[in-house]
Amino acid sequence: SHRFSHLETAPPDAILGLSEAFGADSNPNKLNLSVGVYKDETGKTPILEVVKAAEKKILEEEATKGYLPIEGSPEYAEDVRKLVFGDAVAQDRTVVVQTPGGTGGLRVAADFMRTQLPQVKVWMPNPTWANHPAIFMSSGVPTETYRYLADDRTSLDLDGMLQTLRESASAGDVILLHGCCHNPTGIDPSGDDWKQIAQVVEEKKLLPLIDFAYQGFGDGIEQDAVGLRTILQHTDEALVCSSFSKNFGLYSERVGAICLVAADAENATAARSQLKRTVRTNYSNPPRHGASIVATILGDPQLTAQWKEELESMRQRITRLREQFVQTMKSTGSGHDFGFLLRQRGMFSYSGLTPMQVDELKSKYGIYIVGSGRINVAGMSESKMQYFCDSVASVLS
Ligand code: PMP
Repeated sequence: SHRFSHLETAPPDAILGLSEAFGADSNPNKLNLSVGVYKDETGKTPILEVVKAAEKKILEEEATKGYLPIEGSPEYAEDVRKLVFGDAVAQDRTVVVQTPGGTGGLRVAADFMRTQLPQVKVWMPNPTWANHPAIFMSSGVPTETYRYLADDRTSLDLDGMLQTLRESASAGDVILLHGCCHNPTGIDPSGDDWKQIAQVVEEKKLLPLIDFAYQGFGDGIEQDAVGLRTILQHTDEALVCSSFSKNFGLYSERVGAICLVAADAENATAARSQLKRTVRTNYSNPPRHGASIVATILGDPQLTAQWKEELESMRQRITRLREQFVQTMKSTGSGHDFGFLLRQRGMFSYSGLTPMQVDELKSKYGIYIVGSGRINVAGMSESKMQYFCDSVASVLS
């Protein structure tokens, strides 16, 4: 008999399946609010102009396609360190390892925990990005969830969160936090909430693992790092997984990093060697091109300024769409108040739409939203806002 004849077909990715259906839909007003990528007014995910400029430079100047070191490009690592930590941590206590996207960083973090911190559990917010539990499971790291979303499904249950951690987490456990722009809810802790979370991290000696996939999409590059830096005032050890998929629009180039903060330089050196060992057995060394785009941009003040402008305009478009949606929904007279979207950050929000309403939006109006009701705000369009809101109002009535 054949060796693969007993295999069962794994379930398809729910979100990517929706995008296929979207592609085949002939409705001229169709909208795709499902997959988590930034989109412009025309529904395209553009290449930033600054990225094109950097690539031009790279095309002319790049002299080799030889392997990068296991830990990636040192220039890139230094750029990442400054973006993520500013001057919050001494350089010799940090380790930055370039990874294939934020996902690669999370997988390296998970394998590192499995081998070097075998006692720990990872506490994840409920809900969280669906790939989080999957990655830890693949690495064999046990997970638990802490309360995050309040019963109103539009705000943070901070007391519930802190209580779960105080009562149930063990000293030394890992707490997964979204640095900003929580996926899938868009609900972030306030500055004061972060201080209370940091207190519990200190009290319970938790190791923070901060997933930082949307720096610059919330309130700005520096503002979005406030939570992370607050946490770092209360612990001298942490892990941070960064991604430049969103803020540089480099999705397919796989650009990310795992950053580790150790108590001192000696611990950092040992940790670096273990992270490298993990990388070596996973993919040997990271891809060059995307990181060299980031390093080219951040190594040139003019290109950096241009990047900040382009990032800011993506951020502002999302804010504007949130405002327009709330206003336009109000004008439909549906009686549903979507004001909570204005308190949320980043590309995502839980709309509160039920699976049945989501289904009706797809079949009747060509509007594609995932079953949980999570919407990608960046998938909205100013010119189709009225159509979108009328459609939402009609399924709500
Ligand atoms: N973390 C979160 C919360 C995300 O939403 C994403 C992107 N969907 C990632 C990490 C990883 O992104 P990437 O691997 O594409 O850099």
